[in-house]
Amino acid sequence: MSIDFLQEVANTLFKDYSGRFHQLQLVFPNRRAGQFLLKHLAQKSQVPTWAPRVLSMGEFLEQFSDLKRADTLQLCFKLYPIYKNLMPGDESFDQFYAWGEIILKDFNNLDQACVDAEKVFFHLKDIKTLESDDLLSDEQKTALQAFYGSFTEDKKLSGHKERFLAFWEVLPKLYKEFRETLLQEKVGYSGLIAKSVAEQARYLDTLEDQTILFCGFNDLTKVEEKVIKQLIKKDKARIFWDVDAHLLKPEQEAGLYMRRWLKDEVLGPTFPAQVPNLLSNKLQETIQLTELPLEHAQAREAGRQLQQQLAEIGVPNDQELTRTAVVLPDESQLFPFLYQLPTALENSTVNVTMGVPLRVTPVYSLLDALLELQKTCVKSETNQFHYKPITTLLRHPYVRGLNPKLTYGVLQEIEKNSKRYVSEAELQQDKQLAVIFKCTSSGKGIGKYLLEVLEVVNKHLRKDQAAQRTLEEEYITRTRTQLENMLETAEEADIEMSSDLLEKLIRHLLQQLSIPFTGEPLQGLQVMGMLETRCLDFDNLYILSLNEGVLPAASDEPSLIPYFIRSAYGLPTTDQHDAIYAYHFYRLLQRAKKVHLFYSSYRAGGKQSELSRFVKQLLFELWPCVTPQQLHLKAKPAATSALDLKKSDVLPALLKYIDNGEQAKPLSPSALNTWLHCRTQFAFRYLVGIKEPDEVQEDVDNSVFGKLMHKVLQDFYEEYREGSKVTKEGIDQKLNELPLLERVTNAYQAESGTVPFLGRNSLPLHMVAEMVKQVLEVDMAYAPFHIIGLEKTYNMAIDVPYGDSNQTMRLKGHIDRIDEKNGEVRVLDYKTGKDIRAFKTIPELFDRETKDRNKAAMQVLLYSLLFRLNNKEELDGKNVVPALYNSKELYSKGFDAKLSAGDEKLLSLTKAQADEIEHQVKKLLEEVLSSDGVLNQREEIKGCEYCGYAGICGR
Ligand code: SF4
Repeated sequence: MSIDFLQEVANTLFKDYSGRFHQLQLVFPNRRAGQFLLKHLAQKSQVPTWAPRVLSMGEFLEQFSDLKRADTLQLCFKLYPIYKNLMPGDESFDQFYAWGEIILKDFNNLDQACVDAEKVFFHLKDIKTLESDDLLSDEQKTALQAFYGSFTEDKKLSGHKERFLAFWEVLPKLYKEFRETLLQEKVGYSGLIAKSVAEQARYLDTLEDQTILFCGFNDLTKVEEKVIKQLIKKDKARIFWDVDAHLLKPEQEAGLYMRRWLKDEVLGPTFPAQVPNLLSNKLQETIQLTELPLEHAQAREAGRQLQQQLAEIGVPNDQELTRTAVVLPDESQLFPFLYQLPTALENSTVNVTMGVPLRVTPVYSLLDALLELQKTCVKSETNQFHYKPITTLLRHPYVRGLNPKLTYGVLQEIEKNSKRYVSEAELQQDKQLAVIFKCTSSGKGIGKYLLEVLEVVNKHLRKDQAAQRTLEEEYITRTRTQLENMLETAEEADIEMSSDLLEKLIRHLLQQLSIPFTGEPLQGLQVMGMLETRCLDFDNLYILSLNEGVLPAASDEPSLIPYFIRSAYGLPTTDQHDAIYAYHFYRLLQRAKKVHLFYSSYRAGGKQSELSRFVKQLLFELWPCVTPQQLHLKAKPAATSALDLKKSDVLPALLKYIDNGEQAKPLSPSALNTWLHCRTQFAFRYLVGIKEPDEVQEDVDNSVFGKLMHKVLQDFYEEYREGSKVTKEGIDQKLNELPLLERVTNAYQAESGTVPFLGRNSLPLHMVAEMVKQVLEVDMAYAPFHIIGLEKTYNMAIDVPYGDSNQTMRLKGHIDRIDEKNGEVRVLDYKTGKDIRAFKTIPELFDRETKDRNKAAMQVLLYSLLFRLNNKEELDGKNVVPALYNSKELYSKGFDAKLSAGDEKLLSLTKAQADEIEHQVKKLLEEVLSSDGVLNQREEIKGCEYCGYAGICGR
């Protein structure tokens, strides 16, 4: 029976170093493993004894250095002036920052790999140097020449290429001067600190009677390898390897480093004489592999399997529960899993130890919306904000939680009035909202403002005793600390800090920030990330997200140094990254008694996802009998489920269209179009009376665009309503009196009651003005004519068979304009969409099976019918002409608003055509009344994309 790696180390310590623990320094890949080792020592120790010192590799090296570790932002601030000095130009810190970080990462890699950085950059600069270098293979030299040749062979270099090549020239100097500056100021990054320790080797003299024990290392940077070897040669150190025989086979990716160390003349002899063979001897029955259709279904299934296991073995105490771990290679699974914790564990400790990216927490969305709010602030006496970040904030759980009733009320008010900009005063309805909705005064004020809002939210959360609140409080507190540090660094920097730059830096920080949860690791269920499992062993393992792209994760760290150079100089590459994660995963499985593995067949967004190749390899090589158990969602996907909206359920609502005879509620041509488009949509809108979501319009969208255009044209022709003649000159004169854009802006303000569009957002108003101008151009060409009516509504009654009798239903239409010229009365509709004027036959306009049914033509024909029926006498033999001013064709030369039916122009609506239309309407209304059974969804999903009911309909 195998024992834990750390237990083995503890046993060896008692055997070989008893009574000398105070002279030991135990170095681990992370400190957490050290805490577990101390626990083993404490359990084994019979008498009180000194504990050995426990350190991470970084801490071990830093104790010998006089350099203080600086963070990336501080280093970027130091790098920037040196760069500017070497490479003069107008590059602002803002532009420099993103790839300043890349430079820093590369410098760090170069130092960790103990590489002569100046030589590498020199190589990058000069291809000729590469040719004479023995370090690179012929293949690598050819690849580099192919890459850089494209730059150097160009006779005429573009500005970009020139700067690119100049940049390579500068890099060696940049590295040298930056390094000198840091050493002088006694600060550094991890690579520089480690390299300076290894180079000076002074630390060897300071160790005196100390022994260094390195435990559980696999991958070592060159500088770490150098230090360990120096110590071993001086007989000051010992290494405890956690290695399995399976990994030492030549084809095993996970054994890349172990095989290298085993062959090394200094490190090789430190390996145990007998390497255990745990993986190959693992019983396949102890492995359970589950495939889930969706990513988040894994958390639920893991929770269920854990609950089941606890039911079988009984709930262990917190001490025993530390033998069970849930490993989350994808940090975004943390919260879904915590919400699926088995109820059996409600009185147990759950210890979360992993870094959680801030961007998967609600605090990120809160800060993001706050930054967005400030960006949209229009500074004036009333200080106004754009509605979008306001509504995002009012809906945010932290803001809503402060005062649900008030925030809901404010939100309703904004949506009801379709306000695009809202003033500070309207929003500051209590003390807390006053902190959130206030315009910050300056660039640096933004940081202070974010901290204030976080404080308000945290105060509120503290009042709530719910368990997850503690977690939320924790990440808000940590975010605040990081933000404060960042602001302090920015404050100290000798660089002008615009609000834009500060906002970018804050956003950058937030996107990269990982909140390290480190609870009391020696108690309860262990929930952790993959890296946190290093050196640890568990009896029961639950590992989620075993998908390609997650394990191993795609490693696409940007770098200035291409793959071949990285590979040639021993700098980290993707292959090494994958090998490291393969080791972590295989090692974790070695001693586990029961392993539950989970993966999903689809990622968010419906993309297919594959089982991790690490698992595939195990299935192929060691576990041929393990097959994935495939779990499917029991519920059918919503998209294919038919909504069971029965006619009988909505019958009472239908009665309003037939009850009361003359008073029956009329249906409009739009309602009939809806009925033909989708009966479910008709039921939602006209029977159940569900309004489509009230959305404040961001810009002038199509419907607002149309309304605005109607309003401007109605106002324009208002004075002609009484019958005076519209002439070309009259239109011209009116246009000179007040420019169209002004008319449009006035109409917009009168309609919406909000501030006019600003900047880019004013474009739609220009577009409306342009469209109205074109209508007037067409009118001038058609003039002279008379206006008979503007925005007029007509009704008609239709008897529809219902059961054994007839019922009266009503049709209503609202006509944009009726005008007359030479005995020709046009019933005119303005259309701003993609409508056309041609259709084939009247019956096909009323047939839902018709492909691309012309809804606009059907509508204007119905208007013409209504007008004709209501004005029989006044018409006195005049022709009624259905007409469309449709934007799609309005700009074509010689535009004529008449419709065309088949190959013929529709010069007037004849009696036969009017009868046909009436007949079709009657048929449709009969269908509305008499069709029983289900009000089906439309058959084709195409056409549902823009439906406001898609959410409730399930499409
Ligand atoms: S989503 Fe499609 S099926 Fe559902 S109501 Fe809308 S149009 Fe009809």
